[in-house]
Amino acid sequence: MASSSNDMPALLDIAEVSKSFGSVEVLRSVSLKVAKGEVVTVIGPSGSGKTTLLRCVNFLESYDSGSIGIDGKEVGFRDGGARQRRSERDLAAMRAETGMVFQSFNLFPHLTAAGNIMLGLTKVRGKSSAEARSIAEHWLGRVGLAHKADSLPAELSGGQQQRVGIARAVAMEPKILLLDEITSALDPELVGEVLAVVKSLAEDGMTMVMVTHEMAFARDASSRIVFMADGGVSAVGPPKEVLAAETTNERLRTFLARFR
Ligand code: ADP
Repeated sequence: MASSSNDMPALLDIAEVSKSFGSVEVLRSVSLKVAKGEVVTVIGPSGSGKTTLLRCVNFLESYDSGSIGIDGKEVGFRDGGARQRRSERDLAAMRAETGMVFQSFNLFPHLTAAGNIMLGLTKVRGKSSAEARSIAEHWLGRVGLAHKADSLPAELSGGQQQRVGIARAVAMEPKILLLDEITSALDPELVGEVLAVVKSLAEDGMTMVMVTHEMAFARDASSRIVFMADGGVSAVGPPKEVLAAETTNERLRTFLARFR
């Protein structure tokens, strides 16, 4: 399936990225361009390489060959390359260009909601505590949690914790937001409030790449869907193309049948 945004300038340009863990090749020459303002959802069976791909974009994982560019600048690091010797501080600054939200929230338990958001702003972005507090309050308001600024993660529901996680990522003003199965650990009744936040950020023009099993969300909220299978991009296109019941892509059809 052809990409619909081949002719748009890419904000994120993943070109022929391959990666193996030992003898297992988990990414096989993956290429994907994401234009500014696009919301790209990544679907596919467990083990197909979705998380590894996001981790390579966010420098949490090195890759073996290919390149990853953001806004025309090469990012990420290949195994054995000089990039591996970057300082932790440098890496933190580069990671902030690509905010990432995880399945497991990953909030610091000893810091309040506001404190979690302020940490990167003061340590990486160099903001004063007063500035950071005001930015944190702004984003907490944006995810509907203005009243929880001084609550600890343990005092929040899973859905609220994840909304803090999203606020923490966007407060850093990343060029692109990477969301890795952010609703998978939530009770079903809490999924909607988190997806609503993601949808509102999308409407504001935030560029996002989101790994998800929420097919209804992928269909309604994405510009394009990428279907990964066996470490490669098996299909990519607008939702109604990729999710079409009559697809001739056997892997995709088998995968989609599970959600019908
Ligand atoms: P998905 O997100 O699609 O479920 P992953 O990217 O998590 O897939 O995993 C792709 C493959 O890479 C799987 O076979 C997984 O077992 C393997 N894998 C992921 N991380 C590691 C690691 N740190 N070491 C070894 N194998 C890994």
